[in-house]
Amino acid sequence: MALSQAVVRDLRRIVGEQHVVDQPNDLRIFERDASITGATPDAIVLPGTRDEVVGVVKLAAQHGIPVVPRGAGTGLSGGAVTLRGGIALQLSRMRRILEIDTGSRTATVEPGAVNQDLQQEAARHGLFYAPDPSSQKACTLGGNAAENSGGPHCLYYGVTTNHIIGMEVVFADGSLAWLGGDAPDRLGLDLLGLMVGSEGTLCTITRIKVRLLPAPESIVTLMAAFPTIESASHAVSDVIGHGIVPAALEMMDQVTIGAVEAHYKAGYPTDAGAVLLVEVDGLDESAAELAAKVEEILRVNETSSLRVAEDAAERELLWAGRKGAIGALGRIKPNYYLHDGVVPRTRLPEVLRRVGEIGEHYRLPVANVFHAGDGNLHPNILFDMRDEGILEKVEAAGEEMLRAVVEMGGTLSGEHGIGIEKNAFMPWIYSPDDLDAMLRVKRVLDPEERLNPGKIFPDPEREPKLVARVGLASEARWW
Ligand SMILES: Cc1cc2nc3c(=O)[nH]c(=O)nc-3n(C[C@H](O)[C@H](O)[C@H](O)COP(=O)(O)OP(=O)(O)OC[C@H]3O[C@@H](n4cnc5c(N)ncnc54)[C@H](O)[C@@H]3O)c2cc1C
Repeated sequence: MALSQAVVRDLRRIVGEQHVVDQPNDLRIFERDASITGATPDAIVLPGTRDEVVGVVKLAAQHGIPVVPRGAGTGLSGGAVTLRGGIALQLSRMRRILEIDTGSRTATVEPGAVNQDLQQEAARHGLFYAPDPSSQKACTLGGNAAENSGGPHCLYYGVTTNHIIGMEVVFADGSLAWLGGDAPDRLGLDLLGLMVGSEGTLCTITRIKVRLLPAPESIVTLMAAFPTIESASHAVSDVIGHGIVPAALEMMDQVTIGAVEAHYKAGYPTDAGAVLLVEVDGLDESAAELAAKVEEILRVNETSSLRVAEDAAERELLWAGRKGAIGALGRIKPNYYLHDGVVPRTRLPEVLRRVGEIGEHYRLPVANVFHAGDGNLHPNILFDMRDEGILEKVEAAGEEMLRAVVEMGGTLSGEHGIGIEKNAFMPWIYSPDDLDAMLRVKRVLDPEERLNPGKIFPDPEREPKLVARVGLASEARWW
């Protein structure tokens, strides 16, 4: 439903004439994130300040218009998709790094600041920001906070919530609050903890204060090849079983290695069944000692080849391959559906075997690239949207993979959130009482359910199937 001319005029008055987009062709640019779902907003509004966010949210509240906060749109669970239309509140103009405080080792940023920009700025001060989603060149810190994002280095350092000290948020009625504080213990109710990972359903984040860490003195990156995913998975369990938690422990399967190597020429052995990237860091002596121990364990587990990056350039190349893996898979098929589940680490070989069987059953190529150290698997179903009836197959395969994850004692998401991709599956892991407790919180903060409606919780207004729900198939021809 298009917004009335009066509302569009008021929005323009708040954020400036050029910062409201309401032309149909322009709206289409914002109808997707990186998931396979999409829906067109009625308007895209780009506020430049916190006060403009407040103005827009208040106006939307007055008129009962849904508001969906949006960062870079790299989300993989449909979180930024405007399922019920309304306003896509695009926060990319608010992208400043406001302060790096080297004394207290903190940074304060606007929500649209890009993760990598903060990493680079922190590095200039000998510091680093640990959460590093593979999408970090594009994704925003607001999006990271809303999704409680992880990344390769979150195995040792912890996910986003462990690094956020405080946030300024705007609630659905336009009221404002600063949550959290500098004290290690969060006094009062931990509303900051509640907002991190709330996927834009409880508030719009307008400012974030994060913890920075001293850059490690030494970093050692090892790449080890294995004949099979099973043998690589055993090596992963063995490393952790020895009480070693590397800074990162990532796995790529053969399909991924082939695509990445063709694109990045990072030196990954294309005949390997799986490759592990292991990184340890710390003081010079301890990092070297730890790396030697890891190397020994990988050799005991019969790595077929092992390489230690000799300098920063080689390390970056190895990581460029890993972090660019999803894009490189475009060489195989033009579309992907990237799933996200977590299992107890020891069950990785079993679940990956099952994932392979499901792919074969549906005749869909599946590439695995994932944070193996914490059991966070990312089966990536590759397909061509132009193939008749393909989306239904892709969706059915994805659902079966998630079922396997849950049946093996795992859960629905390690880092990509629930969004509209997995909200129908929430009853697999939560009882009606559990879900009701969460919904009651949502209704207190957003009684009219206007803030990012239809996300996280099972949605009685929709069909159970993703493709049918969002009506993507009709658009498949030109996507
Ligand atoms: C190639 C690729 C690799 C990826 N790798 C990783 C990875 O390693 N780890 C990982 O965790 N994720 C990964 N992701 C997923 C995605 O990048 C993250 O979820 C990221 O945090 C999303 O940030 P964004 O700015 O793009 O947010 P968007 O996609 O724009 O939004 C995501 C959600 O956050 C909400 N939101 C955004 N900004 C705000 C705000 N200011 N206030 C309130 N809510 C807000 C939105 O409503 C939506 O629900 C990857 C994605 C891609 C495409």
